[in-house]
Amino acid sequence: MNEPIEEAKAEAPTDFIREAVKQDLAEGRFQHVHTRFPPEPNAYLHIGHAKAVWIDYGIALDFGGKFNLRFDDTNPLKEEQEFVDAIIEDVKWLGADWEDRLLFASDYFDQMYTWAQDLIRKGKAYVCDLTPDQMREQRGTLTKPGQNSPYRDRSVDENLDLLERMKDGEFADGEKTLRAKIDMASPNINLRDPVMYRIRHAEHHRQGDKWCIYPSYDWAHGLEDSIEGVTHSLCTLEYEIHRPLYDWFLDELGIYHPRQIEFARLNLSYTVMSKRKFIELVAGGYVSGYDDPRMPTIAGLRRRGYTAEAIKEFCRRIGVAKADNIIEAAQLEDCIREGLNKSAQRVMAVLDPVKVVLTNYPEGQVEELDAVNNPEDAAAGTRKVPFARELYIEREDFMEDPPPKFFRLAPGREVRLRYGYFIKCEEVVKDGSGKIVELRCTYDPATKGGDAPDGRKVKATLHWVSAAHSIPAEVRLYDHLFNKVNPDKVEEGQTYIDNLNPDSLKVVEARIEPFAKDAKPGDRFQFERLGYFCVDKDSAPSRLSFNRTATLRDAWANVQKAQK
Ligand code: ATP
Ligand code: MG
Repeated sequence: MNEPIEEAKAEAPTDFIREAVKQDLAEGRFQHVHTRFPPEPNAYLHIGHAKAVWIDYGIALDFGGKFNLRFDDTNPLKEEQEFVDAIIEDVKWLGADWEDRLLFASDYFDQMYTWAQDLIRKGKAYVCDLTPDQMREQRGTLTKPGQNSPYRDRSVDENLDLLERMKDGEFADGEKTLRAKIDMASPNINLRDPVMYRIRHAEHHRQGDKWCIYPSYDWAHGLEDSIEGVTHSLCTLEYEIHRPLYDWFLDELGIYHPRQIEFARLNLSYTVMSKRKFIELVAGGYVSGYDDPRMPTIAGLRRRGYTAEAIKEFCRRIGVAKADNIIEAAQLEDCIREGLNKSAQRVMAVLDPVKVVLTNYPEGQVEELDAVNNPEDAAAGTRKVPFARELYIEREDFMEDPPPKFFRLAPGREVRLRYGYFIKCEEVVKDGSGKIVELRCTYDPATKGGDAPDGRKVKATLHWVSAAHSIPAEVRLYDHLFNKVNPDKVEEGQTYIDNLNPDSLKVVEARIEPFAKDAKPGDRFQFERLGYFCVDKDSAPSRLSFNRTATLRDAWANVQKAQK
């Protein structure tokens, strides 16, 4: 009997946001789906933002909807064109498509101003002269209601006039604010007459000095969503408590009202995920820049050798949760390992070379051995690897006095050289300090290709390169930037900086088989037995630098267990 070909069509993966969207469409609350990713251009994007991009863009895709890239550029003080450019590059690289909807919240400043006047006319907003300190004092606490501002009952005309004069630059920074008139006794502190406009005599990256009043996040964000016709405004959990305010502004104005839904931020083990800390790490010289391959920024991950596909796959696997948690960094690494295992060109490279001289191999002879480019992909074919009398192997693949479980090369012992021959170590040559400088070995010509005709076995296969043909290269061995699962968990008197991993970068001078000599920045390889490596952008044509993207296995699994 034939097996049923397919039991049932697999359900598209879903989550609580997709379910809510589905329900909104079913109930007619919205007729279509339109999402946005709203970065503030004050830093580089990180892997947490990639999660947000894939929630926003992924949901638009799933429901045949639209997706906007909108810069939430409402604060002139910290925002820069450099960040705008970097964010555009990153979001594009991640694979999200905003079509022609690259938008800037600052383009809506005129409309926002008109709506602020509308709220004043409704008696729902007022100009307040309290200083920031006074305002804080009068706001109350979670257990104590706030006090009404003495300026709360200004007339509509006075408020309209003062707002106009604030806009026209009559007042100094901090002298006045525009506040929503809601409820100073609300149990939700966000509703205690929140600030809508602050005075800031500052140059805006797009508006120049047109404005000297700038809208607060809470005032601006819902308006931006409304103007763009966004249906679902998806954001992280810290905005949950701001949602009543989001709703209040839109309801009071009586304008189109999108729905805000919150999800958990991504936190990764061994990582900090805060813009402020990124700035400190860069400014303090702990990393080389925002795109340092140890940084969890998109630019850093890209430079490290991550692919957009691997990041997308990671976002798919972690899903969309409603509760905060810490995701294992190993999960992210698994995604790049699995991707590169399928696609990466294999080469042999020796990171810590020790010379091997095959005493019975003819001087001057060179053989071209066949090597498999990718065992996961037969179509990738084979390449030639030069084999000669002088080779390099990995220093750690030899032990003069091996313990019982060490099966690699040792005096008198035979091992296989990958794609080559069996070799046997006959003599160890040391320098004056006792350091091994050369291993004198013999090879068995009958074992070409890797097997002995008499059936004798070896217990190890080593990678190697030809001394004369291999190319020297710099290889940067990256590890976790922090050595604590949660770097923010610190002893008294310490900061996350104290949890930096002192061994997060080791630079070695390696030898690589000549196949890699024409590699270009961004090219990825598996160095056999060692891991995945990517050519760095600051390679010179005659001098390649490689970044280690990931080891072949997760060396931290046990450390992490021990720390728990
Ligand atoms: P800040 O609040 O300090 O400006 P931010 O990381 O929230 O920092 P935004 O530019 O406001 O920066 O973020 C853009 C979007 O990305 C927001 O919708 C935010 O909710 C989301 N986001 C930020 N960090 C994470 C994270 N770790 N995981 C998932 N989404 C995130
Ligand atoms: Mg934010």
